[in-house]
Amino acid sequence: MITDFLSKFFLARSTRWKSKEQICEWQQSSFVRLKKMTLTKSEFYFDYCDKDFSEFPVIDKSIHVANFNTINTRNLDWKVATDIALRSEKSRDFENYYRGFSVGLSTGTSGNKGIFVLSKRERIQWAGYVLGKMLPLDFRVHRIALILRSNSPLYESIGFSFFLRFQFFDPINGIATIIPDLESFKPTILIAPSSILDLLSQLKIKIYPVKIISVAEVLNEDQESRIENYFEVKVEQIYQCTEGFLAASCRFGNLHINEDLVIVEKQWIDKDRKRYSPIITDLNRTVQPVVRYLLDDVLIHDSKKCPCGSPMSRIGSIEGRCDDILRLYNGAAYKNIFPDFIRIAIICHCSEIVDYRVEQVQSNHLIIYLSPLNRVTKNGVLVGLAELWSELSVIPPKVRFRPLEPIEWMAKKRRVLRRWSED
Ligand SMILES: [Zn+2]
Repeated sequence: MITDFLSKFFLARSTRWKSKEQICEWQQSSFVRLKKMTLTKSEFYFDYCDKDFSEFPVIDKSIHVANFNTINTRNLDWKVATDIALRSEKSRDFENYYRGFSVGLSTGTSGNKGIFVLSKRERIQWAGYVLGKMLPLDFRVHRIALILRSNSPLYESIGFSFFLRFQFFDPINGIATIIPDLESFKPTILIAPSSILDLLSQLKIKIYPVKIISVAEVLNEDQESRIENYFEVKVEQIYQCTEGFLAASCRFGNLHINEDLVIVEKQWIDKDRKRYSPIITDLNRTVQPVVRYLLDDVLIHDSKKCPCGSPMSRIGSIEGRCDDILRLYNGAAYKNIFPDFIRIAIICHCSEIVDYRVEQVQSNHLIIYLSPLNRVTKNGVLVGLAELWSELSVIPPKVRFRPLEPIEWMAKKRRVLRRWSED
């Protein structure tokens, strides 16, 4: 097992990648190995195994879920796996296994639950890779604090290590309840969703991490600067979801896709604006293969070379999920309104706005939740949006305002959400 850990630890730290071609060759040979060692054991993929990568079907979450029983290579049953994961979630005891495999629920939006099943070996490889990517090179014993909605079996696998201490903090009862424990743990590395990092800085917590990593939520620039100002440390990001560890930021703070671990193809949403949804293939997973799997996320491609020298593709930013994109009518067709446009329109005209949430509930109707809600903040938002609508030439929607309730810890924080669809 230790060799599994070390091989991925050193793969993540490797500086051997000099060119895109070299990475492509590595991906191709890894995929051939994946076909031979894993996909031939999957009923769903068996018939594709003598075909090229491009002939494998692109599937989304609903297809993956519907075919879970034939995709996985160990005869695991979807219903049993889901029951175990839900039981863990309810009891907050994450030591439940399904025939020795750990089972977790994805933190996707409700009604769209995904499930992930991992062997111990896969978890150890994952831990090796994550630590290889993220651990500072200073040879001290690190104390890692992870604050997340539920303890994923993935993160628990880090706990065994001899050169670090790892502790999980559950914010289920509110962030204030974990502050004393966090302060006495004195983490050197702090891992949490951006909204929690932001709140900890506002509450002026007395910890002094040397590394801060934002996970599981989109990190906005305004949050980023508040967190960095308070902790005096650069915020790094990892882009990790149920389906794989997709990207991590380099020492220059730029996100690179982990192309030695996953193949990412682009399904363009708006090529001119460089927006796409990733189709991912994990080159290592053996129990529940993830092959040409279309994610619901919206990423912004960045084609610039990074000063760190890595040839791995860059992600300019993670914009959110597809239903974070509003759709407004321009008299002839519906146009995409990306969350980033909304964010800039809202925060640029009023410095008093602490937080917001925008929901599209009808084709021409938005509800905007604001904190604080008063005449000045409302006006700022209306001015910013009016400019945006005219710039994009869309018909201005009706807007209603409501006060923003405090963060609901169980929910993944999403600032822009479309609850309506034109079809
Ligand atoms: Zn870089």
